Amino acid sequence: MLDSIRKTEQEFDVALAAAASHADLEALRVRFFGRKGGAVHALFAELKAVPAERKKEVGEALNQLRDSLEARLREKLDASAAEENARKQARSSIDVTLPGRTPSFGSLHPITIVRREIEQIFREMAYSIDPGPEVETDWYNFEGLNFTPDHPARDTQDTFYLGPELLLRTHTSNVQIRTMEKAAPPFKVLSAGRVYRRDEITLRRSPMFHQVEGFFVDRGVHFGHLRGTLEHFMRRVFSPDTEVRFRPSYFPFTEPSAEVDISCPFCHGKGCGTCSKTGWMEILGCGMIHPQVLRNCGIDANEWSGFAFGLGIDRVAMIKFGMPNIRTLFENDLRVLRQF
Ligand SMILES: [Zn+2]
Repeated sequence: MLDSIRKTEQEFDVALAAAASHADLEALRVRFFGRKGGAVHALFAELKAVPAERKKEVGEALNQLRDSLEARLREKLDASAAEENARKQARSSIDVTLPGRTPSFGSLHPITIVRREIEQIFREMAYSIDPGPEVETDWYNFEGLNFTPDHPARDTQDTFYLGPELLLRTHTSNVQIRTMEKAAPPFKVLSAGRVYRRDEITLRRSPMFHQVEGFFVDRGVHFGHLRGTLEHFMRRVFSPDTEVRFRPSYFPFTEPSAEVDISCPFCHGKGCGTCSKTGWMEILGCGMIHPQVLRNCGIDANEWSGFAFGLGIDRVAMIKFGMPNIRTLFENDLRVLRQF
């Protein structure tokens, strides 16, 4: 019987040394201390058969075996649980010395950058900002602006019609009529937004583009005010040494009318590939508001006068950012847009 006890202890030693995981230790516990078939339990069962004079000695040896085995198993189980805990903590803990992750911010579209810049320049000159509607009636887009129904200039603005009366505005000049109809002068208004014409998509043209319209109506406004305003505007948007040149032109809603060129921002007037060796770039159209347009809005053209100008935001963005193709602005390629 004492031999069996020693043998059981040796077997336990070997098994305990081999146990590598918590599951191994659990299996060991069942093997030695299980109520059914556990080795220690079996030895206690054999105690009944031991002669009375040796019972005390064997009983003490058995108790010792059970206590010793239990203590060693408990020790190893505790160590294993502590190790498991440490591993869990290592997995969930935060390393405060790691560099932070930079959140990714969006950037403004080049059109938005230029539009805001232009709006800011005119806000500083006390203009109010009014984007106006993109869906418009014939009156606000054409007739109020002196494009009579059979006016040939209508052909230069190939229009998207949404019905017999409704259309997509072909310019931001609709805001002129809307403003002048509902209030009394003086006005200083800037309007920037999308406009639409049935154009083919080319390097310079798109059926949808962005325009800025500005107009100023007051007593005694003359062409000199227009020239001064546009010179200031162009020098703020491009560079302070920008030269401005006026060429006579024609628009139904201004008289006199002019096209404005700026000295080429790339070669500063010397002539390069971008300006076709002329040193100048066409940038906007302008003029004194036609007296008939003022009268259309119920304004006395003998008392009030004004100027108006319009230009493409897309064109300004292309020149400012050196883009040769207008499509670059509308393709929404993130690799391009993230540069701004
Ligand atoms: Zn040039």
